[in-house]
Amino acid sequence: MIAENIRLIQEKILNFSEKYGVEPPKLIAVSKNHSIENIQIAYDCGIRDFGENRVQELISKVPHLPKDIHWHLIGKLQTNKVKYIVEFIYMIHSLDSEKLLKEIQKQAEKHQRVIQTLIQINISNENQKNGCSYEEAEYLLKELPNYPNVKVLGFMGIAEDINVSNVIFEQFQKLWYFFEKCKSLQNEQIFMQELSIGMSGDYELAIKAHSTMVRLGTAIFGNRKY
Ligand SMILES: *Cc1c(COP(=O)(O)O)cnc(C)c1O
Repeated sequence: MIAENIRLIQEKILNFSEKYGVEPPKLIAVSKNHSIENIQIAYDCGIRDFGENRVQELISKVPHLPKDIHWHLIGKLQTNKVKYIVEFIYMIHSLDSEKLLKEIQKQAEKHQRVIQTLIQINISNENQKNGCSYEEAEYLLKELPNYPNVKVLGFMGIAEDINVSNVIFEQFQKLWYFFEKCKSLQNEQIFMQELSIGMSGDYELAIKAHSTMVRLGTAIFGNRKY
């Protein structure tokens, strides 16, 4: 089932990319609320990038799975949890405040690592969604030299949970334009190369908006219990 899903999704990603004339994005398997056994199945199909949204769940899984997995933290990150993931995390997709940036810097320095992050922008402008505003993102990029152990490689966004393609696409597209604009800021800490947009229900639209990473859970593993 999982193997078949992955095969189909990979085919669709290639088809959509061809349809819109873009480079195919990387597939990140969102394994939150799914078992170690199922993650291993996806791994055995060649998937090496996995996304989790809760620190506790993530650190309970990591020791039981292959060491060459790239773990992506895609959910809200509380500052008091940074210390649990900084040693091994591959990329944090949910940098959304200077307070969090400060803490990542502190922990990264302690472990002599440079942490790859994406700034999460609240592209749907809904109050209950995580992420900062476009203005705050610009501010964080400007302040980055004060946080030398942090790199920003791009942006992450979650589109509104509605069934209107136009609205979803416009939210993705605005982030893509911003991403393109920020490419001019390139320096040792800013290297705009990743646009993490697209989930199971909207990844075709994300690919159309030049996504470089799609984060798919349900489409790979089936429905979650929560
Ligand atoms: C859960 C989650 C996903 C995956 O959602 P699906 O609809 O199951 O593909 C992607 N991104 C984030 C931030 C998530 O929390």
